[in-house]
Amino acid sequence: MSAPLLGQMMDVPLTLPSLIAHAARHHGSAQIVSRRIEGDIHRYTYRECEARSKQLAQALIALGVAPGERVGTLAWNGYRHLEAYFGVTGFGAVCHTINPRLFPEQIAWIVNHADDRYVLFDITFAALVDTLAPQCPNVRGWIALCDESHRPPMRTQVLCYETLLAAQDGRYTWPELDERSASNLCYTSGTTGNPKGALYTHRSSVLHAYAAALPDAMGFSALDAILPVVPMFHVNAWGIPHAAPLAGTKLVLPGKDLDGKSLYELMEAEGVTASAGVPTVWLGLLAYMRGAGVRFSTLNRTVIGGSACPPAMLRAFEDEYGVQVIHAWGMTEMSPLGTLSKLNWAQSKRPREAQRALLEKQGRVIFGVDMKIVGEDGRELPWDGVTFGDLHVRGPWVIDRYFRQESGSPLVEGWFPTGDVATIDPDGFLHITDRSKDVIKSGGEWISSIDLENIAVAHPAIAEAACIACAHPRWTERPLIVAVKRPGAAVTREELLAFFEGKVAKWWLPDDAVFVDELPHTATGKLQKLKLREQFRAYVLPTALAVEGCPFDPAQDAAKRG
Ligand code: AMP
Repeated sequence: MSAPLLGQMMDVPLTLPSLIAHAARHHGSAQIVSRRIEGDIHRYTYRECEARSKQLAQALIALGVAPGERVGTLAWNGYRHLEAYFGVTGFGAVCHTINPRLFPEQIAWIVNHADDRYVLFDITFAALVDTLAPQCPNVRGWIALCDESHRPPMRTQVLCYETLLAAQDGRYTWPELDERSASNLCYTSGTTGNPKGALYTHRSSVLHAYAAALPDAMGFSALDAILPVVPMFHVNAWGIPHAAPLAGTKLVLPGKDLDGKSLYELMEAEGVTASAGVPTVWLGLLAYMRGAGVRFSTLNRTVIGGSACPPAMLRAFEDEYGVQVIHAWGMTEMSPLGTLSKLNWAQSKRPREAQRALLEKQGRVIFGVDMKIVGEDGRELPWDGVTFGDLHVRGPWVIDRYFRQESGSPLVEGWFPTGDVATIDPDGFLHITDRSKDVIKSGGEWISSIDLENIAVAHPAIAEAACIACAHPRWTERPLIVAVKRPGAAVTREELLAFFEGKVAKWWLPDDAVFVDELPHTATGKLQKLKLREQFRAYVLPTALAVEGCPFDPAQDAAKRG
């Protein structure tokens, strides 16, 4: 076979510093607005952001950080954190964003596993750093993201970010990096076992940024102002800090105040057109807006993901406030974007309710990601919108293996098994029905806990709900609803159970409902079903007791199920 004819185009590597360099050069005056921990609003441009990112790179090099080494961050969404995104990665070091909402022991484990050289932290986390420092002996220094006048009183000896930057002149040229070198490190939230690290490359992050910016993805434009509520410590805020400079989009960074009122006021003051976050945040925003009787004057769309967006929330945004909801699915191992719910031309001509039914799903893949559902035998299942299967994905921003994990690659024949259970319909729309360990297996058939939760929260008296499997002597498992009432609202168990009738197949109807004051959540705001299942391990469903001649010990049965 003759050698292939090679193309004759420039071999320019895809690297993160090129994003901020582009924004500084071509969208130099576009703004980055931050609500600071110090309490005020900070405002500067991409040009200034690049200059200070270069100063940070110089400062870290002066501290002896070498390319490939990890620099951790414990910080909210703000301009200094953004500078770390580019200053750390820009000279070849790895920006390791750490979720401060995890338990200190988990954070210490992560810092040690990542082998972070330095950790940059917002001063809100001063006490946390005092707890962590003795447990993380390999960290050479902790850097407080503030100036000398805001340096917090601490037991740990810390460096001051602004002092480090002031010592550098910013005359620095980003080096040419290998696009396959590591750029960012994020750990999964880890509801079971130790967290696992996803180590992204410059190339994967830039390709992901291109994809995120596409019109049928988040649709970034230089005309937009985007406010990521999703934290920069959670999967790089879904890639927004990379996609915004790529498109020259104004960035509005909300800091630590994520309550409905603070978010609403910032959105209005800065003319925010797009936002992104997990459903829990939007619950707070909607509750505030209803209470205060206010409306958005500029927001036109919001990306909701991280957990399933309840259809009731989608309707509230669209019908009450005229804001388009883009339901998105992804995961840390996928940088994180996989699918988004955007209609194509033909779908947009269907009746409104048919459109809604599609938009409530997690949507179709963006170019770069491919997906399939497989059965227990590993064979691909049909895209009929009914058949459930294990969801597998592949693509240039999907992990090949976990960071420093000896057990080898998790891939199955080149595909990453997501651990999610889903259907795919003939339109190619993905519908996540469960995490594989949360799905309810009733008499050999699967019941989607997410679908039942969505119905429960559509009830006007319910604020939040979880659906878990409960042991059952005849069906193996049956659904139990655990719900939190809205403040001041009244609803009985019977009324809530009756609310499901006619909305799902008869055999999907929950067997029981109980009310609790609050539900357990992970550090990233997801329902902690494992914990809830443990809480309800000994719970006996009334339908289980009714099974004639089949008494059983529910605790023993639960133990069998693990
Ligand atoms: P994380 O890596 O912490 O972002 O968690 C990823 C997991 O969150 C996915 O594997 C899903 O189980 C869940 N998830 C993310 N987005 C959605 C969504 N839109 N609907 C349902 N589950 C979601």
